[in-house]
Amino acid sequence: MSSNHYSFFESVQKSFDKAASFTKWDKGILEQIKACNSVYQMKFPVKMDTGQIEVIEAYRVQHSHHKTPCKGGIRFAAEVNQDEVMALAALMTYKCAIVNVPFGGGKGGIKINPKKYSAYELEKITRRYTTELIKKNFIGPGTDVPAPDYGTGEREMAWIVDTYQTMKPGELDAAGCVTGKPITQGGVRGRREATGRGVFYGIREVLNMEDIMKKMGLPTGVKDKRVIIQGLGNVGYYTAKFFFESGAKIVALAEYEGSIYNEDGLDYDAVFRHRKETGSILNFPGAKNLPKNTDALELDCDVLIPAALENVINGENAPRVKAKIIGEAANGPLTPEADEIFAKKGVLVVPDMFLNAGGVTVSYFEWLKNLSHVRYGRLEKRFTENQNNALLDQMERLTSKAVDSNVRNNILHGPDEEDLVYSGLEETMISAVNEVMDCWKENPSIPDMRTAAYVVAINKVAISYSELGIFP
Ligand code: NAD
Repeated sequence: MSSNHYSFFESVQKSFDKAASFTKWDKGILEQIKACNSVYQMKFPVKMDTGQIEVIEAYRVQHSHHKTPCKGGIRFAAEVNQDEVMALAALMTYKCAIVNVPFGGGKGGIKINPKKYSAYELEKITRRYTTELIKKNFIGPGTDVPAPDYGTGEREMAWIVDTYQTMKPGELDAAGCVTGKPITQGGVRGRREATGRGVFYGIREVLNMEDIMKKMGLPTGVKDKRVIIQGLGNVGYYTAKFFFESGAKIVALAEYEGSIYNEDGLDYDAVFRHRKETGSILNFPGAKNLPKNTDALELDCDVLIPAALENVINGENAPRVKAKIIGEAANGPLTPEADEIFAKKGVLVVPDMFLNAGGVTVSYFEWLKNLSHVRYGRLEKRFTENQNNALLDQMERLTSKAVDSNVRNNILHGPDEEDLVYSGLEETMISAVNEVMDCWKENPSIPDMRTAAYVVAINKVAISYSELGIFP
């Protein structure tokens, strides 16, 4: 249970029900969408470095099979429980639907604090977990494809793919059994920063909408916007990077140990290095310390980005939040009570459901790369460069003028893998934000953007289920 009286999964259900009333679907199909199709709870023993056996509790949930494979990260955290994994799996279904990634939602979790284990112990836990998934057909390029989440990263994904390939020798598409792998193990360039980059593209699109910004009493554009970010992990770090590089001012940052504030703006990378050196973001030169990690959430700013964990803004602290826009980079950082308070206060909440979909979008690109067995750009890069070169030569001959060498180099450039991934991600995020905004504008009785996002997602999943029919 969270600090309010709803569990995380109940919160997701509550948001779903609220949105469902704005759709034309009957109760049966809505119940079909809402339910978690398969919940696998496992317990397995692992021999630790001391020689002691520890029994580990873990989960994999497949929320929806309206598209396969299922897709969703694996979380390592002491707080992992079945309700949380079910909620996160459900969110994945809706997220994939909004960004047109053809997967059903899934999620995995291992109930451990990864900081308490050696690298070798973590490797054994990860490999044993993967083996349990293989035994029950809960992993595979065509069935269920995990990815990194809170507490996991490329290292764990490499262990997973290695375990899978060991158990399934000769399976041609085996590399597509997991995404977020190191590039040298079939990963795709641009995956590491994808979620943060997607958060940035999504919020930038909202900040560029004149009508919305007028309502919020803000000028359009990212430049000089005062941004606060909670959590400087994978998602928070890259979100901070892209806002910083686009001229926004990061006025406060929060980590586990507390918050720091500087109204002139913080250099996110210098703070990150300071934390690495000292073990804390506190006492960063020029910044004011705030004792609690939630203090930063209540400071005045234009855009607040919680990028750590769920339920950090709730009925208790939401009335004190001063941000005009909240971008949910983390999954489920706001409770339904907080949503209601913000809807009344006129705070615009850009929901997790598509705002943090950059990771799964680029995971989709990684999966496609694994199935096609070729790096993006490998076939067309030189062809494009040669064609552009010929066009520029012809232009110069016809006009008798030379094209500026900087412009020439820019136009000449054929796409690398990274360029194509960023372009696909940018297109996906811009389309998703606009689709949700259009749904909201078309039906002004929809109370907030989260509900509009659910409406878009429910419609897509419902169409899919109703076309497929029910077997038998
Ligand atoms: P991460 O483990 O890399 O980083 C999380 C960071 O938050 C850590 O630095 C941690 O110390 C900090 N943190 C934890 N509790 C905090 C608190 N109370 N206050 C301030 N900081 C705190 O995890 P991540 O991959 O960046 O994931 C963060 C969130 O984004 C999660 O909700 C996750 O589900 C979501 N998400 C991640 C991805 C992805 O691609 N990694 C994709 C979509 C959504």
